[in-house]
Amino acid sequence: MNKNIPSHPSTELERIIEGMDAYFGIPRAAIETCHISNTYRDGKDITIFEVQLKDHNPPCIHCSNLKTTVHGYRTSHIKHSVLAGRNCEIHLKRRRYYCPVCQRTFSEENPFVTRRRQISLETVVNILEDLKKPEETFASVARRYGIGASTAMQIFDTHVDMQRQPLSEYICID
Ligand SMILES: [Zn+2]
Repeated sequence: MNKNIPSHPSTELERIIEGMDAYFGIPRAAIETCHISNTYRDGKDITIFEVQLKDHNPPCIHCSNLKTTVHGYRTSHIKHSVLAGRNCEIHLKRRRYYCPVCQRTFSEENPFVTRRRQISLETVVNILEDLKKPEETFASVARRYGIGASTAMQIFDTHVDMQRQPLSEYICID
């Protein structure tokens, strides 16, 4: 399976993209391409998401010059044990920028690492606890935690699949 972002919600890839927003605060609009593939390594099935973000033409981090050019690419690997309830890795293809003023280079931001999760693990646990109560609905729980009902559903779908796995923080390998 290897496809671009579909225009209509339906697929597994759709859930992943929602997960990126829910867990990393990376909205769909910021994603240029996302490809999904599977591999087998160390006795585990691993799903790989190859992601490239849209170019936001950042100013030079060294001298603040506004006009930088893309100089090349480098891929960062991020392991994530929570996303979509499976062993997965995000392979983020990051741009390397060149500044013609100070003649230095710098990397595109890695929001999978630098942005705070919008929803903490503690909140995820609380949401799951609340959803066990028969009187609660996705909408009522979503309202309580200030998230969208679709995000509450996504959290439920993700974690109900993975009760045997520890709910650990992701670790980053650069
Ligand atoms: Zn510069």
